[in-house]
Amino acid sequence: MKAKKNCELIRDLLPLYADGVCSEESRQAVAEHIADCQECRDMLNKMGQHISISADKDVSAVKAIRKKIHIRQAIIIIISIFIILNLFPLLMLFLNMDCSMNYEKYNLAENVRIVEDSEGLWLVTTNEANNSVFYLPTLSDENGKHMGYDDDFDADKKVGYGITLKQKRITEISPFILSYSQEQRTKLGEMKNISEIFYYDDKTNTEYLLWKAE
Ligand SMILES: [Zn+2]
Repeated sequence: MKAKKNCELIRDLLPLYADGVCSEESRQAVAEHIADCQECRDMLNKMGQHISISADKDVSAVKAIRKKIHIRQAIIIIISIFIILNLFPLLMLFLNMDCSMNYEKYNLAENVRIVEDSEGLWLVTTNEANNSVFYLPTLSDENGKHMGYDDDFDADKKVGYGITLKQKRITEISPFILSYSQEQRTKLGEMKNISEIFYYDDKTNTEYLLWKAE
């Protein structure tokens, strides 16, 4: 009867004992009791198992969190690769900017004109042609064949006067299409001894007549 009562008292203490948080006095009492009492010893063992099971659960929870972190890192890496792959064509466009604008593709027949007024000649550009920096003059030989850019322009050296538009801005980024429809005028000034002005496309090595003196 006394032993039974002790059991209840000890079983109240078992959880604390199992967790190792009871007082030294209680710990001794429990230890002494379970040395003799099989039932309480079994109960303590079950608690121990329960504790070790929940420890396993903690470990698997930590593993699950780590797995989530790994998945998140993988997603970030995949997104980064995706962004870099999408930036690559833009980068290529930038690297490709030092090429003349294709006459047909950018409809330069309509978008580049030479206009003459009292101040002299003007280069007038519209739409896609405004996405450019222009280079002039360029040299042509007697047959109108392009001979390259002429930084120190000497009108005596050439028959025609050449203009080349180099791509300055990216004109097409799907789904956006950037267009500058407003007319831009660049003063070319007086051009004595110049009878013809060409657009020179250095991609196709072709010259197109823009203006001819009357
Ligand atoms: Zn007992």
